[in-house]
Amino acid sequence: MRLIILGPPGAGKGTQASRIADRLSIPAISTGDIFRANIKNETELGLQVKELLAAGRFVPDDVTNSIVENRLAEDDARNGFLLDGYPRTLEQVRALDDMLAKHGTELDKVLELVVDVDEVVGRLLRRAEIEGREDDTEDVIRERMRVYTEETAPLSAVYREKGLLVEVDGMGEVDEITARISDALGA
Ligand code: ADP
Repeated sequence: MRLIILGPPGAGKGTQASRIADRLSIPAISTGDIFRANIKNETELGLQVKELLAAGRFVPDDVTNSIVENRLAEDDARNGFLLDGYPRTLEQVRALDDMLAKHGTELDKVLELVVDVDEVVGRLLRRAEIEGREDDTEDVIRERMRVYTEETAPLSAVYREKGLLVEVDGMGEVDEITARISDALGA
């Protein structure tokens, strides 16, 4: 299955993505994780995107698109994948469509984790204390939410129009949410 998981920062996408991907034996591909690993390893890409991530801004589309294109070309993604954190802009939606069309494939479903924004800001602030992620300070969290609402929230409408969107209630226990997603996927 070729899937996308959408939802605001703090919605629990990463946690659910790895559970669902395990269940379906497909790779969970997180652009945020790819960027963070590059920053940690001080690669050229890492140095290029470090400041952007720390400010809660997006990495430019051309950079992000080519990273995803290379990742999707790897063997393990040939028969399916779950993208987490990509696409995030309408331009990335177009780029992904082109990548898939080139390989004669298409998306099966787009999952949206629907959550209460005030609740997730609280979650992120708690995560900030535990993990100390550099982009989890209060100001940066607010900026990430602003950018999400402006740039990424409109993607739901696009995928709804394509008949791919599946909305899942993202509030509650982690296991409960995983079960809802499985049901929604019929998997
Ligand atoms: P979140 O917890 O906010 O969903 P992610 O781990 O998905 O965060 O991403 C962290 C940061 O990585 C983003 O705030 C952004 O700077 C960068 N990033 C991740 N994916 C993309 C993307 N598709 N386009 C542009 N920037 C991205």
